[in-house]
Amino acid sequence: MPVLVQKFGGTSVHGPERIRAVARRIAEARAAGHALVVVVSAMGDTTDELIALAHRVSPTPSRREMDMLLSTGERVSMALTAMALDDLGVEAISFTGSQSGILTDDSHSHARILAVRPERIRAALDQGKVVIVAGFQGVSPATKEITTLGRGGSDTTAVALAAALAPARCEIFTDVDGVFTADPRVVPAARIVPRLPFTLCAALAHSGGRVLHARCVDLAARERVPLTVRSAFEDHPGTHIVPDDEEGSVEQARVVAIAHQGDVSVLIAEGNAGGVAEARGIVENVHEAFPALQLVAHEQATATHGALVWTGARDDAEQLKARFREVRGPGGEWTLAVEHGAAFVSLIGLGLGAPEAVRAVRALEQAGVALVALRTTPSAMIVRVAGEACEAATRALHAEFLEGA
Ligand code: ASP
Ligand code: MG
Repeated sequence: MPVLVQKFGGTSVHGPERIRAVARRIAEARAAGHALVVVVSAMGDTTDELIALAHRVSPTPSRREMDMLLSTGERVSMALTAMALDDLGVEAISFTGSQSGILTDDSHSHARILAVRPERIRAALDQGKVVIVAGFQGVSPATKEITTLGRGGSDTTAVALAAALAPARCEIFTDVDGVFTADPRVVPAARIVPRLPFTLCAALAHSGGRVLHARCVDLAARERVPLTVRSAFEDHPGTHIVPDDEEGSVEQARVVAIAHQGDVSVLIAEGNAGGVAEARGIVENVHEAFPALQLVAHEQATATHGALVWTGARDDAEQLKARFREVRGPGGEWTLAVEHGAAFVSLIGLGLGAPEAVRAVRALEQAGVALVALRTTPSAMIVRVAGEACEAATRALHAEFLEGA
C-alpha cells in the first residue's frame, strides 16, 4: 500500500478543537485505506513564543539550547494529535524527529537532513498504525544532539519522509487554499495556481512565497515526490506541484506568480587587501555565524578589490554589523555597509528576458514606483524597489503579467 504523508501546519493544530478536526480528517484518510504518516507543526505561534521566552531569560541563548527548546513545540502537537486519534478509535503512535530516523548535520537551528532511516515508522505502519511525526527536527549522528531545520522546516520533514518511504505522496495542509499567483492580502485579484512545475515552485519559495519552505520544494523536485498544497479547513483541490516535463512546451515566456519580500536588509562588504582567498574566508565565517544570511553576490573586480553582498533579516544584519570585525577574522581592510528596508519583487516564470524587463519597468513607472535594480535568473526576474513601494510594485506587476487577457 503506497504511503501518504500529510503535513498540518501550526494554524491547523492551533488548540484542542482544531486538533480534533485534524484527527477526523486523518481518520477519513485512514478509512480510505491509506498507510498514513502525519507530520505536525507546533501549535499556533508556539515557536515564536518560545523564542521570545528564551530571550526574556537570556539575551544570547546558545543555539544548542534553542534547539532543545524549540523542538518541544512540535512534540506537544504530535502527542495531542495521537491522543485525539486514539479517541476516534484509530491506532496511532507519535515519534520525535530522532525516533523517526531523521538524521541531520550538526548545524543547530539550520540543520540539513543527511539521511532518513524510517525503521520505526515502517514497523508501526506494518502494524496498521497511523504515525504522527514531530516536524522541523532531527538528530545529528555526529554529535548526538537534537537539531532543528530552520523556520518552516516541518514541510521539509514531510517531503523527506515521503522520499524515504517511496513511492509516497505528500499533502501539505495549510491555512490557505493553495499556492496563489500573489499574496492575496496584497493583491486582491490573486488566484489559485492549480498546477505548478517544481522549478517554478522552488523559485517562488526562494523569492518570498510564504506557502512552502523552500528546501521542501527543492527536495521534492530532486526526489520527484508528488506534492499537493491544500487547505486544512476547506474542501478545495489546492495546488499540485508537478514535474517540469508535465507542463508541456515552455519556450514562450510565461509568468506564473509574483512573489515579494518586504523588509529585507542588504549587507555589502568591501575590501581590498587579501584578494579572493580572504573574501572566501569571510564568506565561510559569516555563514558559520549567521547561516540564515543569503550570499547573493561575490564580485572580485581585481585581485585586490572584492565585494560581497548578502540579504537577510534586520536582526541578523544588525548583529553582523556589530560583530563584523570579530566574525570576519583578522586580515585586510574590509568595511561593511548595511541598508535596511529593501524590497524584492519577483516575477516567477520561465523564458523571461529583455521584453519582459521592458514591460516590468514600464508597469512600475506607470505605478510611480522607482526601480533600484533588476536581475534575471532562469526561473525569475527580480526587481528591487524601496520597502514602502513593495506592495504597489507587487500589484502593478501582477496586473501587468497576470490579469486581463
Ligand atoms: N514550528 C516551526 C516554525 O514555526 C516549524 C514549522 O512550523 O514548520 O517555524
Ligand atoms: Mg509553514
